[in-house]
Amino acid sequence: MKTDIVEQIKDRVDIVELIRQYVPGLKRAGKTYKACCPFHKEKTPSFTCSSEKGLFYCFGCQEGGDVFAFLMKMENLSFKEAVERLADLAGIEYQPTQALTGEEQRRASARKVLDFARQYYHKNFMSRAGEHARAYVKSRNLTKETCEHFELGLSPAPGALIAAAEQTGYSKADLKDAGLCTQTEYGLREYFRNRLMFPIWNQRGDTVGFGGRILGEGEPKYLNSPETILFTKSHILYGLNFAGPAIRKAGRAVLLEGYMDVIGCHQAGVTYTVAPLGTSFTADHAKLLRRYTQNVIVLFDPDEAGLKAALRGALTKQKLFLKQ
Ligand SMILES: [Zn+2]
Repeated sequence: MKTDIVEQIKDRVDIVELIRQYVPGLKRAGKTYKACCPFHKEKTPSFTCSSEKGLFYCFGCQEGGDVFAFLMKMENLSFKEAVERLADLAGIEYQPTQALTGEEQRRASARKVLDFARQYYHKNFMSRAGEHARAYVKSRNLTKETCEHFELGLSPAPGALIAAAEQTGYSKADLKDAGLCTQTEYGLREYFRNRLMFPIWNQRGDTVGFGGRILGEGEPKYLNSPETILFTKSHILYGLNFAGPAIRKAGRAVLLEGYMDVIGCHQAGVTYTVAPLGTSFTADHAKLLRRYTQNVIVLFDPDEAGLKAALRGALTKQKLFLKQ
């Protein structure tokens, strides 16, 4: 890592402005700024930061450091990733000098093919072939703007995605790494066929997988991408890429049951809503939410007592206030 890029970032990024994006309650107190700490639960502010020093420090939990340390902790990034994000924010041209490792290369290719698939599904949805899919979402009262915002798609009949992806230059290995295809005894097959497609983004807005709802008869009704190098269900809250700023502004997050609930709420203007994928809510979900707010309202009723206890456990362990 070249140190001059690090110094340039420190010069250009005001730590107070960076932190304010995550902690809107930041208030001036003399030369420093104060707020309730985003890293631990508290009611009186012990978190401080200073533009002059370029540092933050919390007297409550002893977290502290510079802009890199803050972003790494807040967004769960490596140092390298934090440098990339901050260089981008500061408008500094930055090309990592180190070559990508094999793993990073696979992740980068999977990300690209997922972007391709998202656009491909959406185009198909908007085309004549997507008429039945559009009729379905209309019956669920979703507007055209909403379909575009959430980039709803339609996965075509078997073979079409593989052909289109290969024509564009993606390999079978890319498709498999991205969880779009699986190897069967009859050869490579698309994972999603003839389904209404919901792109799933991580909190940073990278497409990491899909959810697919069957249109017409068939099982299962909802299907999520398999776990891949980019997609871990327990780390993703659907809608968080859109909901993040609204959650910070509202000072609370509402947890809903599924994609359609989130999309419906966002359409209605209640944009601080997210949903876990599937029925389980994990400690990682709670950790993720903890970066945005301390207040979580659960608006679905986990029918099993065990699930309810797990949800409560995960939230309280992360020191989140739970309302039901
Ligand atoms: Zn703290």
